[in-house]
Amino acid sequence: MRKKIVAGNWKMNKTLADAVVLTSELMTLTQNEVKNNAVVVLCTPFPYLLKIKEQLGNSTIVVGAQNCSEHESGAYTGETSAAMLKSMAIPYVIIGHSERRQYFGEGGALLAKKVDRALAAGLTPIFCNGEQLEIREKGSHEALVKQQTEESLFHLSPADIRKVVIAYEPVWAIGTGKTATSQQAQDMHAVIRGHIAAKYGNDVAESISILYGGSVKPDNAKELFACKDVDGGLVGGASLKARDFVDIIKGV
Ligand code: PEP
Repeated sequence: MRKKIVAGNWKMNKTLADAVVLTSELMTLTQNEVKNNAVVVLCTPFPYLLKIKEQLGNSTIVVGAQNCSEHESGAYTGETSAAMLKSMAIPYVIIGHSERRQYFGEGGALLAKKVDRALAAGLTPIFCNGEQLEIREKGSHEALVKQQTEESLFHLSPADIRKVVIAYEPVWAIGTGKTATSQQAQDMHAVIRGHIAAKYGNDVAESISILYGGSVKPDNAKELFACKDVDGGLVGGASLKARDFVDIIKGV
């Protein structure tokens, strides 16, 4: 059975004190709300990872990073390696978020290297793909998302691709309040899973969790997460408010 995952992406928000308050509210509110096989991940800014991890203790919530370097180690000022994250026992790392692609020029080949680093360190990459509005309007969204998946994941062995979580995030829905309909989400998740099945077989494709991201809110989470190929969500804005995030978690 595929893992259900709800990951909050805090991006570059909150002071440490505010992050601690949010975490403590989440710990209180999620008691008995996280269903059996669901995983809740808080992708915090790098400087807060250890503090929030310690605060969570052995709660059911875990932490994740928002990025890692494509390099193993060395003279790369300001960067954080996958091995460093592993040394802090951080289990998840987001790779290829559309903001990294857009503002930091990250493309498919570079992201393939980051995925490799994450897997080599024993982390679970949450690999993001998704199309911009003009691509959808041209009708090329399926082709683009297949290409993004191929470029960064299809060099992996069947055993390794099984360890990856994918987050389909249409760029036009991120932070815009414009959510994909559950039908649009389901259709794209089925396209991604079908593309993986064509290369690796059904068994591998069926084992991979594919999350939806893009203005997930308490009032649309349940319907999105009920879709056959939607295995949870990657949540930005709404993960910064404890009550909203917990209501989203309840929908999984
Ligand atoms: C995201 O940043 O991955 C995201 C989906 O943001 P939001 O939920 O705010 O659209």
